[in-house]
Amino acid sequence: MLKIDNLHASVAGKDILKGLSLDVKPGQVHAIMGPNGAGKSTLGNILSGRDGYEITDGTVLFEGADLLALEPEERAAAGVFLAFQYPVEIPGVNNTYFLRAALNAQRKARGESELDSMQFLKKVREKLAVLHLKDELLHRGVNEGFSGGEKKRNEIFQLAVLEPKLAILDETDSGLDIDALKNVADGVNALRSPERSFIVVTHYQRLLDYIKPDVVHVLADGRIVQSGGPELALELEERGYAWIRDRVAPGT
Ligand code: ADP
Ligand code: MG
Ligand code: MG
Repeated sequence: MLKIDNLHASVAGKDILKGLSLDVKPGQVHAIMGPNGAGKSTLGNILSGRDGYEITDGTVLFEGADLLALEPEERAAAGVFLAFQYPVEIPGVNNTYFLRAALNAQRKARGESELDSMQFLKKVREKLAVLHLKDELLHRGVNEGFSGGEKKRNEIFQLAVLEPKLAILDETDSGLDIDALKNVADGVNALRSPERSFIVVTHYQRLLDYIKPDVVHVLADGRIVQSGGPELALELEERGYAWIRDRVAPGT
């Protein structure tokens, strides 16, 4: 599904990613943990095609095609979804209207027919039911006046409606109380399928109590320095990240 090989990238002339490799298979959930400033958000931003990043080496293949050659809209149409760390507010733009426009833009780019409002509403109702969400979310402005928990719930709702093949969730647990965290995790779990992969960037092991990842990676200083099963997250919770310094810069 996603194959990143030896990715090097810089921002404003500063090297951030320094040889990152990652292989995500269909249906897998990969968790990426690591200290602040390691490059976790940079990775998500690069995958979604945000500006400002220079790729200096390496390749990213999504379903065998060069992802980095695609425009952000083309990536979305190909099935890549990034839930932003700080979701934007679009006051006055109705959430349902926004989502339908986003979905139809993607369908159009794939050569599929656009959904009319009845078809769209049917899909939306299905997704609300799957996620146990109230339809109150539909009538509000995009993220307008949403609490942190509501924004996250809305991101999961967007994810459900857009039906991506690869969803990248960045720091989904930052600032969330335990109930909101569990809502997000329930949403992710409800949307897991053999065709859909997730990359979940998180600081906290506790999210992984609810979302059981297939693979856990530690990203430090722009590279994956260790990978393992869910038990790696527990080990990080216990030991912190200090031991990683030896792997990043041996002997310093
Ligand atoms: P993480 O998400 O792992 O905490 P980030 O990917 O956000 O880390 O950042 C990695 C490094 O890149 C940090 O040192 C950060 O200061 C730097 N960085 C990120 N974006 C920019 C930018 N636009 N300009 C300059 N430095 C940046
Ligand atoms: Mg950070
Ligand atoms: Mg970050």
